[in-house]
Amino acid sequence: MLRQQGAVPAPSMEPEARSLFWSGLEKRPERDRELEILWDVPLASCTTFGIGGPARCLARPLTMDAVADVLRRVREVEVPFWVLGGGSNVLAPDEPLDGVVLQLSRSCSEIRIRGAGERGCVEVRAGAGLRLSRLIRFGLENGLSGLEPLVGIPGTVGGAAVMNAGTRDGCLADVLLWLDCLDEKGARQRLGLRDLRPGYRTMGLADGWCVVEACLGLRPATRGGMRDRLRETMLKRKATQPLRWPSAGSVYKNPPEAPAGWLIERAGLKGHAVGGAAVSEKHANWIINRGGATAADVRAVMTHVEKSVLEAFGVCLQREILIL
Ligand SMILES: Cc1cc2nc3c(=O)[nH]c(=O)nc-3n(C[C@H](O)[C@H](O)[C@H](O)COP(=O)(O)OP(=O)(O)OC[C@H]3O[C@@H](n4cnc5c(N)ncnc54)[C@H](O)[C@@H]3O)c2cc1C
Repeated sequence: MLRQQGAVPAPSMEPEARSLFWSGLEKRPERDRELEILWDVPLASCTTFGIGGPARCLARPLTMDAVADVLRRVREVEVPFWVLGGGSNVLAPDEPLDGVVLQLSRSCSEIRIRGAGERGCVEVRAGAGLRLSRLIRFGLENGLSGLEPLVGIPGTVGGAAVMNAGTRDGCLADVLLWLDCLDEKGARQRLGLRDLRPGYRTMGLADGWCVVEACLGLRPATRGGMRDRLRETMLKRKATQPLRWPSAGSVYKNPPEAPAGWLIERAGLKGHAVGGAAVSEKHANWIINRGGATAADVRAVMTHVEKSVLEAFGVCLQREILIL
């Protein structure tokens, strides 16, 4: 499940309070310097799958205070809300989404070097709304190594932190020193690695917390060596992944028995399609949008894959992508 970060509206909550909230947002001055609001935005344009119906409200705060204010207000009136990064690990629904989708790309996108930290590391602080690719490029430009295994992973620093994005060669938790988050009361909290529970595609962050900044410990390295490692990883990706098509990357976590892609391929499912969605011929753990796929198409392909792998191998595949 994509974590719905807002509470499900309680029956006790006055519908009047919620309609006041919506009309308050609609009546805001158009040139609000703190908050950009877009109405009825197709989520297909905000996700790498290119799938998803309209979100009633897309909120892009321009300052940290505005982020905290939006979070406080949606919680107060119990309007459902979701924090969305680059939308590269989610499947959004075809139906309209009646709530607030919050994006941090305009408020939390700074990178700062904070000098030497422990054990020869250089502390680099990155806003959660920053593109991960931008942060990796910053590392290369400044000869700071540690993020090379993550090259080619789309999305934001916030999404990578929540998902503990990575590959066999390393994950974000390997270089993470701490995360700054807004908790469910909107208060800023700093969580060190010891406060988190990093694991396979999870950082163990509590539901409802919003990451605003990550601090990483990177090591000085030669730019030539880093460039070679980045190039090698990208070549490997291009050779093995269907990057020409819209997707959300690997759909399933690799179970202990065998890689998910191997199980799906051996179950004879490469190319299995419903509507515009299909199991990739190049990498069986990827579902691609071959054009005009709907969320219902993707879900139907997933249901078939999960049933077939269970029948063939007795393995219950765990989803890596988050379904709204
Ligand atoms: C071509 C391709 C290749 C990929 N390769 C890899 C890979 O090699 N390894 C890998 O791990 N993943 C991979 N992925 C999946 C995906 O890119 C990663 O999981 C990525 O880190 C998600 O970041 P995002 O910003 O897009 O998050 P989103 O998809 O927008 O969100 C993911 C989750 O994080 C939450 N979230 C996002 N930002 C915040 C925030 N600031 N605070 C709180 N919650 C937040 C969302 O609510 C959601 O629950 C790939 C995807 C694609 C399309």
